[in-house]
Amino acid sequence: MRLSSIRLAGFKSFVDPTTIVLDSNLSAVVGPNGCGKSNVIDAVRWVTGESSARQLRGEALEDVIFNGSRARKPVGRASVELKFDNSEGTLGGEYGAFSEISIKRELARDGGSRYFINGAKSRRRDVIDLFLGTGLGGRSNYAVIEQGAVNRLIEARPEEMRQVLEEAAGISKYKERRRETENR
Ligand code: ATP
Ligand code: MG
Repeated sequence: MRLSSIRLAGFKSFVDPTTIVLDSNLSAVVGPNGCGKSNVIDAVRWVTGESSARQLRGEALEDVIFNGSRARKPVGRASVELKFDNSEGTLGGEYGAFSEISIKRELARDGGSRYFINGAKSRRRDVIDLFLGTGLGGRSNYAVIEQGAVNRLIEARPEEMRQVLEEAAGISKYKERRRETENR
């Protein structure tokens, strides 16, 4: 599975629809301070189900919506869409047969957020489920390594370290299923 594009609209500083195409296995986001590099990373976290405003460097969830600048009025909604090349079938379940998988999240100021998988309205937990065990999304997201992440890992408590290892080993998926079954 490989992230092949990120499309943002109304998300943080990306007010106009912007598509970032990633056509290599290794991509770098570079640019001057404040140009929006971290906002791109926030977008990836957000669309894969991040529900903590603080993790997205805001105070409220609607802080991800473009809130205006000197030249532009605020907008009413934010959306982010990720496209994954799934030709190796890593993203499994009912979407395993698709060679391209699209995940989209939208948020309007006056409403809740909506998720879509390949255009079909889905629940947040469907998106979380899709990525469990891939290293992207969820609590032990190690596919996104931002400033301070390496230090946090070095200083992690054994229980936190274990979560990262379980995600890498693909065990977290089964633990989550067991938790759900036990809570039923
Ligand atoms: P650095 O190199 O300092 O880490 P960066 O490239 O990571 O910078 P970001 O943190 O991604 O920069 O972007 C910061 C910019 O995004 C700021 O100018 C901030 O005003 C703008 N921004 C953040 N949220 C919103 C929002 N909801 N609406 C409009 N602009 C926003
Ligand atoms: Mg930054």
